[in-house]
This record gives sequence, C-alpha cells and structure tokens, in this order.
Amino acid sequence: MACLNCKAETEGDYCSNCGQRTSLGRLDMATIIRDLLSFATDSDNRFWSTLRHLMLNPGRVSVTYVDGARQKYLNPFNVYFLSVAAFFAVSVWLGYFSESVASTNAQLQEIVKESDLLTPNIKELVEQTSSFTAVWLKELAIASKPLSAWFFLLLYRNHGRNYPEILTFTLYLGAQNFFLITMIMLLETLFSATVFGGVGFLIWGSYFILSSKAFFAISWPRTFMLALPAFIMDWLALYILAFTFGHLSVLGFV
Ligand SMILES: [Zn+2]
Repeated sequence: MACLNCKAETEGDYCSNCGQRTSLGRLDMATIIRDLLSFATDSDNRFWSTLRHLMLNPGRVSVTYVDGARQKYLNPFNVYFLSVAAFFAVSVWLGYFSESVASTNAQLQEIVKESDLLTPNIKELVEQTSSFTAVWLKELAIASKPLSAWFFLLLYRNHGRNYPEILTFTLYLGAQNFFLITMIMLLETLFSATVFGGVGFLIWGSYFILSSKAFFAISWPRTFMLALPAFIMDWLALYILAFTFGHLSVLGFV
C-alpha cells in the first residue's frame, strides 16, 4: 500500500520510510482531542522538552542540536518564532507592552532632548530610531538575529563554532530570553508585584553566562569577560537595524 504521508510503498502498521501509521481513517473529533491532549501531557513532546531544557539547562539545547541530535528538540527557528509570538501575545494581553515601550521611549527622548552634547541632527536621528523601534520591535527582534550572530562570530572567534552554529545559539538564546520574560510578566501579574524587574535582569544575565559557557566551552574568566560585550552587541544589532530602517522610512525609501 502507499503511505498517506510520504507516498512511499510500504507494508505493516507503520510506514518504513516516514514512520506514520498506515491505517488511518477519516479525521474525526476523537483524533483531534487525542492530538490536543498529547500535546499538553506527553512528556516526550518536543515542544515541552525543548522549553524545559532551555529553562533548566542553559546552553544544552544549542550544544545538543549543533552536535547532531536534530530530532530531540524543535529546530531553532521554530522555537524562536514561538517565543516571540508567546511574548507579544502575553504582553499585549496583560497591557505590558504599550506601557513599558512607551515609558522607555519617553525616558530616552527626555534624556536626548536635555543633552547638550548632541546636535539637533543627532537628536532627531535618535528620536526616529526610538519611535521606529517601538512600532517594529517584533520584526526587529526577528530580523536582527543574523546580525547578532555575526557579531558573536567576531567576538567568539577561535572558539571552534562557525556562523550557522552561532546563529543556532543566538536563536535558542533569544527564545530562552523571550520565554523567561513571558514567565516573569505572568508571575508579576499573578502576585501583582514589580520586584521581578531587577531580579529578572539578574536571571537573564545568569542564563546568558551559563549558556555561552556551555556552548563555547570556555573558561569562567573568559565567559565573564565576553558576556557584557556580547549582551551589548545583541542589542546593538537590533538598534543598528532600527536606525537604518527608521532613517530610510523618514527619507521615504521604506
Ligand atoms: Zn510514509
């Protein structure tokens, strides 16, 4: 018989080519509910095991994936898009997003306005960049990862990882951060507290340090030495894009 999934000729209960069951009836409600339940409860589910290991073993998912176990976890792009979606869905739902972006923007613009060091031209560019960032943050978070990875390649050169491997690392790392912030937002709302802000940043830094230590297999002093520049470059990549596209959009090119 021909497999319904991959069309290969096969025998037995499971396709020898792709592994799907060979005897499938028409899709019914029982199957839908079983699929839904298995997503929520199956401990072997790749989504949950990826999420669990991202949170509990920083760096391990990247190392495992890059070293060749590609079926164990969701691929880095899937995880990253899911984390961005989760973050924005929850922050819009809780009203966080507009609030925090608006206040950060207002603060930044206030500082820029009062500075004597900046010329009016530069002040205008900073304002353009920050308002562009506020509107396009999702897209920038996604589009800046290839540039972040390139910065990391420069920073961690001579540590045996090539560009695609480092891109994988930055995507898993970014996903880890988005899931983490999402959980912090939910906890803050649940306990109506804001104490997590500072704590959140500390946890974020620790994850960054533990992940890069595991992924690049470097010494503790080197890990600490490179962590801050890496952290800055990750954000710099986003702002470089925001600056470029913000400026182009004002000039009418985009
Ligand atoms: Zn098949």
